[in-house]
Amino acid sequence: MSEHHQNSQSTLVMKFGGAAVATPEHFSRIADIIIAKMKEHPRIVTVVSAMGNTTDQLIALAKQVNPDPPRREYDMLVTVGERISIALLAMALAKKGCEARSFTGSQSGIITCSRHTDARIIDVRPHRILPVLADGKVAIVAGFQGVSRGGEITTLGRGGSDTTAVALGVALNSTKVEFFKDVPGVFNADPKKNSAASMYTHLSHGEALKIVLEGAKVLHPRCIELAQKNQLMLHVRTFQELGSQGTLIGKEREVVGLPCYEDET
Ligand code: ASP
Ligand code: MG
Repeated sequence: MSEHHQNSQSTLVMKFGGAAVATPEHFSRIADIIIAKMKEHPRIVTVVSAMGNTTDQLIALAKQVNPDPPRREYDMLVTVGERISIALLAMALAKKGCEARSFTGSQSGIITCSRHTDARIIDVRPHRILPVLADGKVAIVAGFQGVSRGGEITTLGRGGSDTTAVALGVALNSTKVEFFKDVPGVFNADPKKNSAASMYTHLSHGEALKIVLEGAKVLHPRCIELAQKNQLMLHVRTFQELGSQGTLIGKEREVVGLPCYEDET
């Protein structure tokens, strides 16, 4: 990955989950967020998930045809969800006069092992993305998917778009990956079920990993491990209220000295 580092300084990766792209109207809102961000960060890669519960619907569809579908064909089908999102986001940006290019996982150079439905990323070769960023355009990448060395389309396991975003952040030498969610940040309990839940402003990678391994669905565990290994900062925030601070995950809390969650163990 290191050969890409020098020519890709200060790229921001923005990841939009399924809730942020749940309806056609959401794409206009997301496009506004990206356009506003471009003022501070001229180099932006966005990673998007499938709209709302599209992935669940595609899996249900497969099962209607074959309760035990061949894994290769499952991947071929479910990757369609993210492909819908990338094209619609590029269209929404174009409508607002912002040039963008959408790419599948394969076109983005997300190289994985050949284990269908649960592949691991083994390399990122963003040859198609770098010239788009150099041209001042937004690169839009389909999350959750890649391509094996044998040229087969693979998926990274449910929730895998987070890992796509972090893998690109590492390959493009980003300083931060921002995750836009329907919750304001990482909480000590599910904020949708427990109104007394409180939000962390800062966590270390280790603390965040512990929280998701205990069952919080806020980030894909593998994306935190990858960020920890590469000392990449993660920012979990809501797409609904841009002024809100969210949760920063990474070392920087020591520098900024904001209140943080103390691990008692
Ligand atoms: N759309 C996929 C899923 O629902 C991947 C993701 O959302 O990260 O699991
Ligand atoms: Mg999804």
